[in-house]
Amino acid sequence: MFEKILIANRGEIALRILRAAKELGIATVAVHSTADADAMHVRLADESVCIGPPAARDSYLNIPALVAACEITGADAVHPGYGFLSENAGFAEVLADHNIAFIGPKAEHIRIMGDKIEAKRTARRLGIPCVPGSEGGITDEAEALRVGDEIGYPVLVKAASGGGGRGMKVARTREDLADALAVARQEAKAAFGDDAVYLEKYLEKPRHIEVQVMGDGRGKAVHLGERDCSLQRRHQKVWEEGPSPALGQADREKIGSIVANAMAELKYLGAGTVEFLWENGEFYFIEMNTRIQVEHPVTEMITGIDLVNEQIRVAAGEELSFSQSDVRLRGHAIECRINAEHPVTFRPSPGVISYYHPPGGLGVRVDSAIYQGYRIPPNYDSLLGKLIVHGRTRDECLMRLRRALDEIVVGGVDTTLPLFRTLVRNHDIQAGAYDIHWLEHFLLDGG
Ligand code: ADP
Repeated sequence: MFEKILIANRGEIALRILRAAKELGIATVAVHSTADADAMHVRLADESVCIGPPAARDSYLNIPALVAACEITGADAVHPGYGFLSENAGFAEVLADHNIAFIGPKAEHIRIMGDKIEAKRTARRLGIPCVPGSEGGITDEAEALRVGDEIGYPVLVKAASGGGGRGMKVARTREDLADALAVARQEAKAAFGDDAVYLEKYLEKPRHIEVQVMGDGRGKAVHLGERDCSLQRRHQKVWEEGPSPALGQADREKIGSIVANAMAELKYLGAGTVEFLWENGEFYFIEMNTRIQVEHPVTEMITGIDLVNEQIRVAAGEELSFSQSDVRLRGHAIECRINAEHPVTFRPSPGVISYYHPPGGLGVRVDSAIYQGYRIPPNYDSLLGKLIVHGRTRDECLMRLRRALDEIVVGGVDTTLPLFRTLVRNHDIQAGAYDIHWLEHFLLDGG
């Protein structure tokens, strides 16, 4: 097992990793930018190293500084969390060159799944159902029109290097396609330095349902059920729950075993999420994330399995602590992403947390790095923390979530808490009757 893990991240996920390492008896190193000197992950780690100025490209994305921090502290492994360098195959390789373990998948799998065109090709080969679309990248208009005619309109132009919902353009009709293609390529070039795009059938009313998987890197892979992340704003997840209120047990087992078999064949290592759109009872692969995800606690609450602990174990060459038959989905869990943003305009609201009272009680979990007096720096994303609630049934979970949302107090900055207090009381949400567009329409109608 590792002796010392360097956590190449900040915020709540840095704390989450720290907790898993401590439970395994592994020493921890926090890294931080100058803007994060007072952060909770720095306070709780055994050691800390300042790796640069506030801008992420000079600190949390600074590979030479991170490698130097490992060498100085003698860390033998790095956990990248999510975002930042978590899906950077080059980073995993540089660490390997320095004899430092990367707590994540093999570099080749990160690379394949990081290119969405290659990812879809691989998924198809492994027997995973995909959204109908172009075979590979699209470079000219004539080819785009040919594919558009074949799959039928509306179509979606997507960036091969896309992420965070950026670089996507819908063409409702044949006439819109040339423009959509040009705009998507331009946006992709600006955002990712890569103008490669591909076409996909635009699904009108799907749900976003994703399957959590863990592999040992040697051909054993286990699925841990699904999460429904259909409640989105600008293609960004806001509320996640599991199991999906829309899915039956037969469909769950079917897609779960397709994913587990595919990942076993790939000899996938560590945690991963295979994302699907689900419409009219059919699953369509859209992408795979080769990292721990923000919403992983939903799965932890219904399976009782510590996913970060398992990530660390398999990265160190150990076996998974469980097999498929040990995975039992119990009850229901919902996660709310609490952002420091205005609940109506979604304007970021950095500043000082003047007062903080977290909720408690049976089935309530808060993953957060904030504390009273903490100053939220303006340099990073606005996630303050996650409220995750578990109940024996979805109704019990909703009841408990309503109670926990009424209890939590975050003072001094705007937060999205009022939005969740409205959502948890909404009839459609209570009925589980929503698709990926529901939240945008709800917000347009004034909540
Ligand atoms: P990103 O990597 O930017 O998150 P994804 O491929 O995961 O991109 O898609 C993000 C979201 O965009 C999905 O959850 C869904 O809401 C929407 N989306 C993606 N592909 C399609 C599609 N073919 N039809 C309709 N909506 C889509």
